[in-house]
Amino acid sequence: MDGFLPAEHGRRKTLKTPIGCVGDGLHTGRRMSLTLHPAAVGAGIQFRRTDLGVDIPARFDFVTDTRLCTTIAAPAAPAVRIGTIEHIMAALAGAGIDDVIIEVDGPEIPILDGSAAPFLFLIDCAGVATSAAPRQMIDVLRPVRVEDGRGAFAELHPNAEAAFDCTLEIDYPNTAIGHQSLNFRLTPEAFRANLADSRTFGLAEDVARLHEAGLALGGSLDNAVVVDGMTILNPGGLRHADEFIRHKMLDVVGDLALAGGPLRARFIGSRSGHALNNQLLRALFADKDAWRWVGGASAPADAATARAKQKAPAFA
Ligand SMILES: [Zn+2]
Repeated sequence: MDGFLPAEHGRRKTLKTPIGCVGDGLHTGRRMSLTLHPAAVGAGIQFRRTDLGVDIPARFDFVTDTRLCTTIAAPAAPAVRIGTIEHIMAALAGAGIDDVIIEVDGPEIPILDGSAAPFLFLIDCAGVATSAAPRQMIDVLRPVRVEDGRGAFAELHPNAEAAFDCTLEIDYPNTAIGHQSLNFRLTPEAFRANLADSRTFGLAEDVARLHEAGLALGGSLDNAVVVDGMTILNPGGLRHADEFIRHKMLDVVGDLALAGGPLRARFIGSRSGHALNNQLLRALFADKDAWRWVGGASAPADAATARAKQKAPAFA
């Protein structure tokens, strides 16, 4: 891999040992058990509902709902869903993990503290195993853009360097959030230092509405920042003055990790959330001339087989 990354970033990684935790789902309020398992080189990231015995590949084309979080469903059994996958996906992308099985015994990944830091802690405790297999990247060859008709947009552009660079802005007028923007290059060190511990957030009026509708039942000041006008309701305040844009960037990293491999691209977004992030990947892979796999020319046969599997049916 050319460019700025140390050589070990160019090798596929998994965990050294299984590791798990127990926590509540943000939306269901149900208590669930989560376990991460090492996986074979080339296996990719796979979710598994242990209560139902169903596997769901962590891929953009299995996303079925992006309204409150990113939810994926089993292709052969659409009723089998796993919600709130974006923060654990961000932690895995941030740590450079390519191959892992994520087991959960219910319909949602536990929210824990609302950030990616607890997942990074689990990865740290398990340890990272670096294989000899080269890590391929998805190289964006020409610009792709999606927008929502209300001025929000997300774009991917080619990147002269072998990296994933992001520029994002958000705007919540007349609130403590206001206008925030951030530039970020994804590396394990930068993700850990700048994004991992930033928490999900909501406006107090939206939280009240969600609770009335029976949603966000597990939500509390222990796992989300709640903003009421110019006031932060959490007694401990913010972890960073710009925690909101850092969390939205964390969501971009997690949502775009559903590409099926690391992106070599520049992301530019304005008020982009889970819906646009997913539409962006769908637009990219709908255009076979907009991307290609790069690196890892000497990939072993099993990695090549996994790539072939990744290409079907989404890339067919
Ligand atoms: Zn989030």
